[in-house]
Amino acid sequence: ATPMAVVATINKSVKKGIIIRNGEIFSNIKNLDTIVFDLTGTLTEGKVLVRSYKEFLPNAIKMAASVESLSNHPIAKAISDLSNEKEKVEEFEEFVGEGVYGKINDNIVIVGRKSFVKENCDFKEMDGDIFICINGKLGGIINIGDKLREGIYDLFNKLRERNVNIIIATGKDNVDYFKEIKVFSGLRPEDKVELIRKLKDENHYVAFVGDGINDAQALAEANIGIAINSGTDLAKTAGDVIIGDIRLVDDLFDISNKLENKIK
Ligand code: ADP
Ligand code: MG
Repeated sequence: ATPMAVVATINKSVKKGIIIRNGEIFSNIKNLDTIVFDLTGTLTEGKVLVRSYKEFLPNAIKMAASVESLSNHPIAKAISDLSNEKEKVEEFEEFVGEGVYGKINDNIVIVGRKSFVKENCDFKEMDGDIFICINGKLGGIINIGDKLREGIYDLFNKLRERNVNIIIATGKDNVDYFKEIKVFSGLRPEDKVELIRKLKDENHYVAFVGDGINDAQALAEANIGIAINSGTDLAKTAGDVIIGDIRLVDDLFDISNKLENKIK
């Protein structure tokens, strides 16, 4: 395409809620045969709700809520809301795709996914989404839920009609949606990168769709990185394309087809 046609298309796309960082993607989109989607905050609304919880040690929920109040993760927001009273947290640390750590009155508090918490906590096999560890003992378990965004099944059907293979890659351990789709669960951020690299090695042309901040590495590794961001921090968002609505993934194909047809 001529530079002018590309610029015109980029400008038109902005009005639809699509920001194209890299004009080269227009000629590459038709090569896509695989799209890997992140789950939380990407296919789901990211408004995580607590479905149920169990407390095994006194104040475990309150302590978990206090540590999580320092994190911006959608899961952290939900857990933080479990207690109105908050304790003072020292030495706070966030482990991306794993969980959080903090010290409260000399108690060591770890909250996060099972495999992460288990590294520092002794407990027998148990079901649950988020585990709380206080001084090396299991303090509580939290089950969370999140709603799928509107139009996901519709989007998947359209992509299938374009012969695009759909894969879901998530850090979540228990995934109960999407019976008919290949879901890789329990992945750490670096496992998502590894998955994309492997698909590329198998000669697939791969897009990754994820939320820009958590999934920066996967967005960079994919042939085309598509970040979903309806927020304000666009400058910090990684990716070749930024979309304000997940349904726009399908529109990218039409936009690029139109541009390519103009050339002929
Ligand atoms: P996804 O791949 O679904 O977007 P993330 O990579 O952000 O999820 O996180 C993966 C998993 O790590 C979460 O499902 C959760 O178990 C755990 N986790 C990440 N951040 C936190 C946090 N702040 N508090 C508790 N658990 C967390
Ligand atoms: Mg996410």
